[in-house]
Amino acid sequence: MGDKVSYKDLGLVNTREMFARAVDGGYAIPAYNFNNLEQLQAIITACAETESPVIIQVSKGARDYANQTMLRYMAMGAVKMAREMGSQIPVALHLDHGDTFELCVSCIESGFSSVMIDGSHLPYDENVALTRKVVEYAHQHDVTVEGELGVLAGIEDEVEAEHSTYTKPEEVEDFVKKTGCDSLAISIGTSHGAYKFKLKEGESVPPLRFDILEECEKRIPGFPIVLHGASSVVQDYVQLINRYGGKMEGAVGVPEEQLRKAAASAVCKINIDSDGRLAVTAKVREFMANNPGEFDPRKYLGAARKELVELIKHKNETVLGSAGKG
Ligand SMILES: [Zn+2]
Repeated sequence: MGDKVSYKDLGLVNTREMFARAVDGGYAIPAYNFNNLEQLQAIITACAETESPVIIQVSKGARDYANQTMLRYMAMGAVKMAREMGSQIPVALHLDHGDTFELCVSCIESGFSSVMIDGSHLPYDENVALTRKVVEYAHQHDVTVEGELGVLAGIEDEVEAEHSTYTKPEEVEDFVKKTGCDSLAISIGTSHGAYKFKLKEGESVPPLRFDILEECEKRIPGFPIVLHGASSVVQDYVQLINRYGGKMEGAVGVPEEQLRKAAASAVCKINIDSDGRLAVTAKVREFMANNPGEFDPRKYLGAARKELVELIKHKNETVLGSAGKG
């Protein structure tokens, strides 16, 4: 399928150096999902302006949506755009929730600098074997690999689980040693999607299981830990969506205060997808409602892109602590 290319020729970097600096510095690298031009422009603009290292990531579904050849040149264009803005921030292109060895190989051959192999739903030994296999291939190409232990609840593209299973801290050291992975996603109470917690009247969001995070950290000190499903589900956006014809009652996420605490600890990569989707949808709905005669996509997508820049700057500056670390 197509010609092979190394990510290095696209101007991208793997995550090794980024994570080493984040672990030392007590902050987290943002990983923003994208699948179209406006989202990618917003991510690069916001990260260049805040001087934040960044991981741009795509799921298998997003890769199919965008087309893998288009995606390669979008990533290359993203790096060039940052440089033209006068910024030298490192940019990694990462596969989110890779589900097979073959998909990881295909991504590495088409210019990804980092891949996740998610064997978290498999029995432990099979997860180890699959992750090990991907690591062996990826490391030959100097591509970094994220593994996962424990299952997150919620839904995200191809990934769906009804109930979460917390990561067992007693497994992490063995997993990291046997697989040789470069970072590890764990399950401590976050979940995928915009409906992270089903709350009854008057209930508040349960705190993340920082005790599990601490136990993991003790067993693999200094090893990069990743948090998925870490959108805060910004309520201003949910309200805008509902005001302008949407229906998203009960959408709730992880409070930013909790994410701030996680970013300052061993967590060095935080995935944010749903908040970006909400920002875009809220602004498109608002614009459409207020400008019924407008039919130029640049107008409503421009409004969405502008909001996304603000959201990402806010995350980098006040939640992840990655601003100024590029
Ligand atoms: Zn995820």
